[in-house]
Amino acid sequence: MPDKPKVAFYWCASCGGCEEAVVDLAEDILKVVEAVDIVLWPVAMDFKRSDIEARPDKSIVACFINGAVRTTEQEEWVRLLRRKSQVVISFGACANSGGIPALANQSTKEGILKYVYEDCPGLDNPNKTRPQLKCEDEGRTLTLPELHGMVRSLDQVIDVEYYLPGCPPTPKLIMAAVLALLTGKLPPVGTVLSPDIALCEECKRKDSKPADLALTEFKRPHQVQIDPEKCLLAQGLVCMGPATRGGCEALCPGGNMPCTGCFGPTSRVKDQGAKFVSSVFSNIAPKEVKEIDAVLDGIPDPIGTFYRYGLSKCLLRRKLN
Ligand code: SF4
Ligand code: SF4
Repeated sequence: MPDKPKVAFYWCASCGGCEEAVVDLAEDILKVVEAVDIVLWPVAMDFKRSDIEARPDKSIVACFINGAVRTTEQEEWVRLLRRKSQVVISFGACANSGGIPALANQSTKEGILKYVYEDCPGLDNPNKTRPQLKCEDEGRTLTLPELHGMVRSLDQVIDVEYYLPGCPPTPKLIMAAVLALLTGKLPPVGTVLSPDIALCEECKRKDSKPADLALTEFKRPHQVQIDPEKCLLAQGLVCMGPATRGGCEALCPGGNMPCTGCFGPTSRVKDQGAKFVSSVFSNIAPKEVKEIDAVLDGIPDPIGTFYRYGLSKCLLRRKLN
C-alpha cells in the first residue's frame, strides 16, 4: 500500500481555538485521518521537534500553522516546518494578520515585561523578578524562548502558499481546503481560501442597510436591544461587515452580534481598519467637529475595534520606542 501523504499541524501565539476548529470537523476528521498520516499535532499527539528534524526536507505534503510569531521558539519552529513542507497553509486570523496577540504591538517589549512583572495591579513581586532566558540548576542549563520586539504574521517570517481566514476558520472552509490539497485541485499560490467578497454580500440583513447610514451615535451591543432583522450598522453598532471578507456566511450577524472582522479584508483592501473608517465614518450625520467627536466617543477602543485581528498587517503596524 503506498504511503499516505504526511500532514502537520502547529500552533504559535494563539488561543488554541484553531486547533478546536480542526476537532470541530466532527466525523469528517475520520476521513482526514484515513487519507493522511499526521506527523505533528502538539495539541493532540506526542511528537518531538527531533521527529520533525529527522524528516527529509519537503517530505510533509501540507503543514497548517496557526498563531502569530511572538517568540524565538516560534520562529525556529516555523522555519523548520517551512523547510520540511511542500505547502504551508497560514491557518486562522493570528497566523494571517497577527490576530489578538498582535494587539500587543501597541506596547513595546519592555513595556509589556514591565507591566506584567512590575506594575500590574494585584501582582506580588517585590523584587521585580523577571524570567531569565538562561539559568543553571544542579548542573543543568534551563532556557526559555525570548520575546521578539513585535508580533508578526506567519508570512512576515516565512513564505506561505495559502491562507485560511477566520477566528477560527469554519469547518466547511477547512474541509474544502483539505479536499483541495488531497485532490491536487489547488488555486494559485497566495490565494485566501474563502470567497473574495465583502461579508455584507452574504449577510441576511443586507437589504436593510441604507445607502446613507446617517449615524448619530455608536452603541455597544450591551447598550441596546438589537433588532434581529435590521442591519447592525444601521442600528449604530460597529459591524465590520463592509470591510471584511466573506466566507463564514455572516455567522455573527446571524447570531445577532456585529461582525468584528476576523476574516480579514478582501483582496482589494490594503488596510482593513482604514477601509472601515473610510467607508463608514463618511456616514456620520453631524458635520461640526465637536458633534463628530461626540459620535466617535461611542467607540472607546478604536484600535481594538478596527484592528482586532490585524494589527500586524495594519499600515502603521506597531508602536515604536
Ligand atoms: S453591516 Fe453587518 S449587519 Fe449590516 S449588512 Fe453588513 S454584515 Fe450585515
Ligand atoms: S461574522 Fe465577522 S467576526 Fe463573525 S465569524 Fe464572520 S468574519 Fe468572523
